[in-house]
Amino acid sequence: MTRLLIIGPPGSGKGTQAEQLAGHFGIPAVSTGEIFRNNVSSRTELGIEAAQYLDGGDFVPDHLTNALVKDRLQDEDVHAGFLLDGYPRTAPQAAELDNFLASQGRSLDAVIELQAPDAELEQRMLHRAQKEGRRDDTVDVFRRRLDLYHRETHEVVSLYADRGLLVSVNGSGDPGQITAQAIAAVERFINGRGERS
Ligand code: ADP
Repeated sequence: MTRLLIIGPPGSGKGTQAEQLAGHFGIPAVSTGEIFRNNVSSRTELGIEAAQYLDGGDFVPDHLTNALVKDRLQDEDVHAGFLLDGYPRTAPQAAELDNFLASQGRSLDAVIELQAPDAELEQRMLHRAQKEGRRDDTVDVFRRRLDLYHRETHEVVSLYADRGLLVSVNGSGDPGQITAQAIAAVERFINGRGERS
């Protein structure tokens, strides 16, 4: 039973690491960015509404995002655990998640923060733009996303740090090694908590 979050700036490799970590821990990765992108490409009502925010690098409004996550976290496959990727990104989202989990008698085990310097993030995004062609991978939109990360999501990171849940991992270097370091750090953290309690 493992409930994890992964938080990191745009271009930090959060999505890639989320997939690997979820595989290792045997839990589903739930990526809000991916759910939004899928809705945009299949032109659902949510997708049509969300597209304007994604394209500008802005956050989708909290009420839409919270509803989406609450809905997803009631599915059968996430009962035994999950890895949330890209949520919460704002303090109100974090509060909403707390309330929701508490109402079900659940709580988070650890929050993984993937760190990388801004200059490297921009380089990686430019590289990804050529390979994947994501609509929000342009320099201006990327800078907006990075700016929002520093202004809003950093607060969420501090909140989990204050609660003693944060496991910071260096996101620079070989992706496979980063995965191995993240797994080791999370396992150390979870086992260490077990010993203390
Ligand atoms: P990145 O971390 O590279 O920005 P994501 O795939 O996590 O990529 O998110 C892509 C976009 O999806 C965000 O820029 C935002 O518009 C939207 N989004 C994803 N998660 C959230 C969230 N928790 N709250 C608001 N908007 C979100």
